[in-house]
Amino acid sequence: MSARLITILGATGSIGDSAADIIARDRDRFAVHAVTANGNAAALAERAVTLGAKKAVVADEQALPALREALAGTSIVTSAGEAALEETAADPVDMVISAIVGAAGVRPTAAAVRAGNDIALANKECLICAGDAFMKLVRDNGVRLLPVDSEHNALFQLMEGRNIGDIVTYTITASGGPFRTWPADRLATATRKEALAHPTWSMGDKVTIDSATLMNKGLELIEAMHLFALPPEKLDVLVHPQSVVHAMATFVDGSVHAEMGAPDMRRPIAYCLYWPDRCGWAATRLDLAAVAELTFEHPDPERFPALRLAREAMQKRDGAPTVLNAANEVAVDAFLRGGLGFTHLPAIVEQTIAEADSRGLLSGPASIDDALELDRQSRIIANGELEKRFAAAS
Ligand code: NAD
Ligand code: MG
Repeated sequence: MSARLITILGATGSIGDSAADIIARDRDRFAVHAVTANGNAAALAERAVTLGAKKAVVADEQALPALREALAGTSIVTSAGEAALEETAADPVDMVISAIVGAAGVRPTAAAVRAGNDIALANKECLICAGDAFMKLVRDNGVRLLPVDSEHNALFQLMEGRNIGDIVTYTITASGGPFRTWPADRLATATRKEALAHPTWSMGDKVTIDSATLMNKGLELIEAMHLFALPPEKLDVLVHPQSVVHAMATFVDGSVHAEMGAPDMRRPIAYCLYWPDRCGWAATRLDLAAVAELTFEHPDPERFPALRLAREAMQKRDGAPTVLNAANEVAVDAFLRGGLGFTHLPAIVEQTIAEADSRGLLSGPASIDDALELDRQSRIIANGELEKRFAAAS
């Protein structure tokens, strides 16, 4: 059996780290064509060398000299910029791991799809920002799209080999984040450090903040709707603080099947990399007796309005999820840089959607380009909403 050739987009991030760990453990099975990052040349160079990649690409052109220097004396080809990133994503491989964070991942992932590369999708923003257009591209190019996101990977496993018509509800779980038990008035005081202290998962900053607001679960509902072509009313969320059950399928006869595993992203990533085989080893094994208790509760819509906003956007469909995603990226960035209060995160998103709606921007988008244009306009609106808020506060 020849090795599976892999490209990792976003190779220096949290998902990139986990993917690299799996690949490094099975060198006979996998070979790496290219690795990419935003601007961290040193980390990318190291990743390229340890994985034996042929190419290393930074999105930020200013990072190219440092990348060249770090890889001097090797045969690894370097390049920089958005066009180079898209070109590299389109080089023929067996699988592209799409693990850039945010809407920045949409164009390179779409380029990989157009080139006919199968995708292991971590970048959920492809489906929130440009869901209908992205799924059409996937169908038109006949590529396989395997979900890395743990809940969706769980749903994929629960659906494989089943009669889908017998499933009445698809439930994804949420850990509830670090503020699950905080009273509403305390949430306004939540700091960056507190929001980044996720109780069960270790992830990049953006998705960790989204987990604290529960926006991540809202984005994941939209992700599931597109990935599996499901109607919104069949999708549900349960808060499950232990993060052991990742998703459940409820069948028409009342049977509930759950997918369980230790909260370690290497498991769903390995599932995609080895599919349709099963990875023959486990990075971590679940010890249910040690976990002892599995608990479930409904999310609180009062304290976590982001979930409601995402549900509304999912029901509206068209451009609403695109605007939701862009506004959320702007708000999360402002929160991480400091200055925006935790409870203002959903407020910025809600105001941006209302403003985009009043400007008649919510129809469409018919193509990936349209979606990214709406993304750009939404960021301008969201930044305007941020400025208003800062002006009111000073
Ligand atoms: P991260 O912030 O740890 O890493 C992001 C990667 O993207 C880095 O390699 C970075 O260099 C690159 N990048 C950032 N901005 C870029 C840009 N403008 N252009 C090109 N490259 C850029 O993020 P992460 O936590 O690994 O998450 C990646 C994606 O996977 C996100 O969409 C996230 O929602 C999803 N996801 C992550 C986890 C997790 O456990 N971390 C779980 C499920 C889904
Ligand atoms: Mg997830």
